[in-house]
Amino acid sequence: MTTSFRVTLSPPTRRWTELHDAMRDARPKAAGFDRRDTLAHPAAMLTRIGPWRIDLLEAGTLWLDGGAMFGSVPKPLWAKLQPPDERNRIRLAMRCLLLQGEGRRILVDDGAGEKLGEKLRDIYRIEYQEHTLERSLAAIELTVEEVTDVVLTHLHFDHAGGSTRRSQERLVPRLPRARYYVQRRNWYNALEPNPRERASYMRENFEPLAEAGVLELWEGPQRPWPGIEIFTAEGHTRGQQLVRVAGPEAVLYYVADLIPTGSHVRIPFVMGYDVAAIETMAEKRMVLERAAAEGAWVCLEHDPVLALGRPRAEGDDFGWAETVPAQALSAR
Ligand SMILES: [Zn+2]
Repeated sequence: MTTSFRVTLSPPTRRWTELHDAMRDARPKAAGFDRRDTLAHPAAMLTRIGPWRIDLLEAGTLWLDGGAMFGSVPKPLWAKLQPPDERNRIRLAMRCLLLQGEGRRILVDDGAGEKLGEKLRDIYRIEYQEHTLERSLAAIELTVEEVTDVVLTHLHFDHAGGSTRRSQERLVPRLPRARYYVQRRNWYNALEPNPRERASYMRENFEPLAEAGVLELWEGPQRPWPGIEIFTAEGHTRGQQLVRVAGPEAVLYYVADLIPTGSHVRIPFVMGYDVAAIETMAEKRMVLERAAAEGAWVCLEHDPVLALGRPRAEGDDFGWAETVPAQALSAR
């Protein structure tokens, strides 16, 4: 039933190109960012939605077990979409979202960071020779000091591990001037993880934030800044929060582990990691229905090839009307 699905490696769509060019030519709406608007840079792409300049920042890659990433999908099917290495792992991106405008620089997720020990780095094959958060920020002439806010979708290590770093014997916030936001439900889930999620919730990634007094717990949906909506999804882990950015130019969803790669646009493609597959399927349908009706873009945090897709209904399921490879964006 799903065998007809293929990840499309199409060149960037005209529509996205138009968005990008319109932004580049437009007079900056938010003061202070104009000089950077025209820069070409290796690790990020950009456009503008409402008052927000949008960049996608690569924070390194990791490799996770292909079976766990695809749940009940048979290996012959997923292995064709994402070929595993000799330890059955598939390559995954850690792609963060940066929003600049309204006097703020808001980062959504911050990757795994670089402080994992050798053993775990080997298990998860974490690679940051090519990209780190710092280098991707530097590519758009920014530093970690300039980030004002960090929205963490959830506290799994591959989304929030970049929140802290080691400074001599201590762990300190890696974005030193930022406030961090996470759902209260996810915070308590992370502090007392169930046995299935225990390996993913490492206290070193989030406890130092509370100790430093920079952590804020959000309760359910939020509208913290103009045009930005935070909503929750509970199937992957309890208290995951997702981001919608809307403006006259476009709507963009950052859906983290609800739709981690382009392949997961299919409703039954649910990760084995998820704590509640039925909830994930219902939440995915809700988000994809809304996004398809809006002609919105969906950012794919973990897809090693595709950075963005525009979903469309395909019968009772969903597919992509258009996709944009990360490679095409970084070259622009
Ligand atoms: Zn996760």
